[in-house]
Amino acid sequence: MAFTVAIDGPAAAGKGTISRAVAERFGFAHLDTGALYRAVGVKGGDPVAAARELTVADLARGDLRSLEAGQAASRVAVIPEVRAALLQFQHDFARRAGGAVLDGRDIGTVICPGAEVKLFVTARAEIRARRRWLELGGEAAESDYETVLGEVRLRDERDMNRADAPLRPAADAVVIDTSDLGIGAASERAIAAVMAVRERR
Ligand code: C5P
Repeated sequence: MAFTVAIDGPAAAGKGTISRAVAERFGFAHLDTGALYRAVGVKGGDPVAAARELTVADLARGDLRSLEAGQAASRVAVIPEVRAALLQFQHDFARRAGGAVLDGRDIGTVICPGAEVKLFVTARAEIRARRRWLELGGEAAESDYETVLGEVRLRDERDMNRADAPLRPAADAVVIDTSDLGIGAASERAIAAVMAVRERR
């Protein structure tokens, strides 16, 4: 039986960790849709062609988590033809038998408006930037905290203000603010939201 959990939110809010926790708890498959845009962004050349011809090897590149890849992703993500090329794959993944968790920016609003559970995971920009900076190595990272904060804000701005599939919570999404919540507690909230829907069925 198909069961879709849509998890949206801005960069470094904790979507990835929460998605993995939910997927593991319920035995669902997980798709990090940001990786699709990152792979298109770093591939170079015509982004529409890159999106149409995306391969498993493109998704396995080691440089997809870099700041540059994040910026490149958000630049190609404003192109409607790129989004359209990636839609079917995400849609099919969402409706696979056995359940699926997809995290991204437009899962609950555009890709799976009929998802059984929609979550919007967010946190203050300063907190998200600090997490991303620590993830990149903290004091040992190439970029300082202020640079990372600037990148986070720029990406928020681009993701929220684009014409096609802008980042926003679906009307019926459960909002989880992780600013002052440990990742374990945030994951528990997400799991409880899924559990509540499953119990009603
Ligand atoms: O989630 P992640 O930081 O990997 O996403 C990278 C970029 O890809 C985002 O800033 C956004 O521009 C784009 N994206 C998107 N729609 C998604 C997932 C990611 O536009 N569903």
